[in-house]
Amino acid sequence: MSEITLYQDATHRNVLLPDASGEGLAVQANHHIVVHNEHAMLLDPGGHKVFNKIFPDLMSRLKGGIEYIFLSHQDPDIVAATNGWLMVTDATAYVSALWMRFVPHFGIDKLVEERLRPIPDEGMWLNMNGCSLALLPAHFLHSAGNFQVYDPISKILYSGDLGASLGFSGREVLDFDHHMQYMEGFHRRYMTNKAILKAWVQMVRGLDIEIIAPQHGAFFRGKPMVKRFIDWCDNLDCGTDLYASKLKMPQRP
Ligand code: FE
Repeated sequence: MSEITLYQDATHRNVLLPDASGEGLAVQANHHIVVHNEHAMLLDPGGHKVFNKIFPDLMSRLKGGIEYIFLSHQDPDIVAATNGWLMVTDATAYVSALWMRFVPHFGIDKLVEERLRPIPDEGMWLNMNGCSLALLPAHFLHSAGNFQVYDPISKILYSGDLGASLGFSGREVLDFDHHMQYMEGFHRRYMTNKAILKAWVQMVRGLDIEIIAPQHGAFFRGKPMVKRFIDWCDNLDCGTDLYASKLKMPQRP
């Protein structure tokens, strides 16, 4: 499987697996792994097909195993294979407290259910073998209980569905102006509204970010590109701002 190393030093690396899903009707999805001293966090591991493809390869290379599974929100492309991952690893999975009673509808075995843990609304930090990773609140972007991961060592912000692009085949955004067309439709519909997007902008402007890596499509690398994306979010009309006036009864035939 093709993979891209986004960051690497003696003890820490950040790997992107971009090709593990998106076959047939399924939306293309990126799978990110943060490794620190051979312990790993797997982000948004996705559905069952992805599980079968990633798992053997991943386990054969990780000495310390998967310590954490991060679930940014409750969508099937994020959580569908959570039970499988919990059954074959000793990992602890974290998902918004809002979704703790919904994820088990995908099937969570009694044996592993205590390893599905809630993220409180205000977010939290996780310690992974000496590395602190922030779970940032990004509610309503797009899910009502939604988190992102900030890794202060690599300075990567894993933004989940925010920053997602559809239909662009590149892995990295090289021309922001050209790239907007691949993000606009998705963000206008899925992101809740301008007020919450601006609140997110305020929170992340204070962070030292080298890469913004979304769960679908291409990533943004380098401070100028990161700033362009954040500025774009600061000025985007989306969600309820656009759709509130459009709700009407459908025409009766
Ligand atoms: Fe989603």
